[in-house]
Amino acid sequence: MIIPKTQEEIELMRQSALLVSKTLGMLATELKPGVTTLELDRKAEEFIRDHGAVPGFKGLYGCPSTILTSVNEQIVHGLPTDKPIEEGDIVSIDCGTVMNGFYGDHAYTFEVGEVDAEVKRLLQVTKESLYVGIREFRIGNRVEDVGSAIQRYCEAEGYTVVRELVGHGLGRKMHESPEMPNYGKPGRGKKFIEGQVVAIEPMINLGTRNIKQLNDGWTIVTRDGKPSAHFEHDVAMVNGKPELLSTFQYIYQALGITSNEEDEFRAKPLVL
Ligand code: MG
Ligand code: MG
Repeated sequence: MIIPKTQEEIELMRQSALLVSKTLGMLATELKPGVTTLELDRKAEEFIRDHGAVPGFKGLYGCPSTILTSVNEQIVHGLPTDKPIEEGDIVSIDCGTVMNGFYGDHAYTFEVGEVDAEVKRLLQVTKESLYVGIREFRIGNRVEDVGSAIQRYCEAEGYTVVRELVGHGLGRKMHESPEMPNYGKPGRGKKFIEGQVVAIEPMINLGTRNIKQLNDGWTIVTRDGKPSAHFEHDVAMVNGKPELLSTFQYIYQALGITSNEEDEFRAKPLVL
């Protein structure tokens, strides 16, 4: 059952989503060749606790870390390690918070130094597909309208969509109804309702869509070893339309990027 949120609850969820967004912005300045994902994990946990919240992933389903760090062919659920990040890597950082009793859940795939043009393009298209999907999250549409739009957009570029892992409803629980696959058929699935909040998170591969899990019981990688990208936003249904609760603007501020990609999904301008 989809659990709609009141206006007040959506404002509380916005605070949690903004804290996780800020956390990724902080990590954007730390992510450099030579740094380890374990170091980033410690910084993320300290940052979240300093802001009066608790890590959302740590302890959930037995997760040992505050962030999940997926490098290159790793798709999602990569556990932080003491292996240094290298020039040319791509690193998806997925992070959760609990604040005011509500979860925030947010992910971005970062480029470390100079990345191959082919991989850069994968990241760009995956991020664009996130917004293509968010645009279909509106009253009158159904769950698979979002997924089918993401799938069409990415497959037209020659990429593939991971099937086994999906987005989800978000609230007092990390994973609420409905599941939000990044593929599907238009007009299928549950109808969207006012006040619901979802995490939309395309996971898009350069090569095959097939996956496998590493022996650590967590890390999901592409079966062919080719790179994968992952971006995630938290979105509320407000007045029948998608409203972004999370933001990449803290990351862009840290990296010196200017972007208006989020403007159409905000009723009022974001104050950082
Ligand atoms: Mg996530
Ligand atoms: Mg998620």
